[in-house]
Amino acid sequence: MKVLVINCGSSSLKYQLIDSETEEALASGLCERIGIDGRLVHKPIAKGLDKITIEAEMKTHETAIQMVLAALTDKEHGVIEHLDEIKAVGHRVVHGGEKFASSVVITDEVVKAIEACNELAPLHNPANLIGIHACQAALPGVPMVAVFDTAFHQTMPKKAYMYGLPLSYYEKYKIRRYGFHGTSHSFVSKELAKAAGLDLKQSKMIVCHLGNGSSISAVLNGESVDTSMGFTPLAGVLMGTRSGDIDPAIMEYIMKKENKDIDGMMKLLNKDSGVYGLSGDLSSDFRDLDSASKEGNEAAANAVQVFAYQVAKYVGAYAAALNGVDAIAFTAGVGENDGKVRGLILEHLTYLGITVDAEANQVRGEKKMISTADSKVKVYVIPTNEELAIARETVALV
Ligand code: AMP
Repeated sequence: MKVLVINCGSSSLKYQLIDSETEEALASGLCERIGIDGRLVHKPIAKGLDKITIEAEMKTHETAIQMVLAALTDKEHGVIEHLDEIKAVGHRVVHGGEKFASSVVITDEVVKAIEACNELAPLHNPANLIGIHACQAALPGVPMVAVFDTAFHQTMPKKAYMYGLPLSYYEKYKIRRYGFHGTSHSFVSKELAKAAGLDLKQSKMIVCHLGNGSSISAVLNGESVDTSMGFTPLAGVLMGTRSGDIDPAIMEYIMKKENKDIDGMMKLLNKDSGVYGLSGDLSSDFRDLDSASKEGNEAAANAVQVFAYQVAKYVGAYAAALNGVDAIAFTAGVGENDGKVRGLILEHLTYLGITVDAEANQVRGEKKMISTADSKVKVYVIPTNEELAIARETVALV
């Protein structure tokens, strides 16, 4: 079955057409600057052709979808002949609140329930809904599925998701830990169990999704029982530009000192902090930080150290939450590619009986065990594939 996977942002739309039998992507691409001017970058993977860029006005997401469908069926760079070959569409939706603990087939009722979660993710959910409506208009009658970033973490017990705030705020506003990157944590934990030869239903795993945004999760018997992101994706370890956990009173202190309003403060925490801010505004990219460290830039070297230390502390916390750990996975841009960061994190974890295979730890972007054969806890690099995970969920439901 051919499944179109859509990840829609406020001015962008990413897509992949996946053949669910081979689990290969036939084409992928990105519409950017929707509503501004418009650019479509389309990669016809199945034809082995280079990506093409089409600059054309994209006033709305509907136009963007029309252009994607035209690219997919184009004589030269298309990968299917007719649109009716697309049998289902899977949509990434960021926030499913407490309502969605798994993926669902999209109905009018589901759309209303997603709308009800808009308040919890005001930057993302409305854009995800625009993508759903645009696809419904362009592909009438094709079944569509919503796959939520939060769903995998809905198995967290109350002791893991409640904050130390007045109970009424949970009751009135649903303020609690939700966690994000759920599709990735779910996919990677299943792949990790397979790779490490564990019975998923009797396993203790920790997944470190380390990319531009980073989160760590504790997965017990295949279910998420804790995760480092919280009410929003700002929580947990410091990230590319996000601060992660800080003493909340720092906000008031900075706002007074720097005469900032709450919008300015939130921008500081979301866009100007993390390894970017800590490296003295050098870069949020770990490749740049590594080069700068090698040239003696202390702030860059320190930013990487702080990141690795914070990740290691979460892994330690989750080893306690799980009361032991069988296997650990590293995934996403940094986790899959940066052996140095992995090594720095694992240095703190020898007490768990982990020994690192230094040569294997050089691996980039492929599935590999990076602990030695006699390591008490198995450690793997497992590439994430959120699009494939969305396609699998979609096929399972339609
Ligand atoms: P993601 O959000 O998963 O796409 O990850 C993006 C981040 O991964 C980039 O900002 C880089 O910091 C990091 N990254 C990607 N490739 C490499 C690499 N070869 N070495 C180190 N870090 C990398």
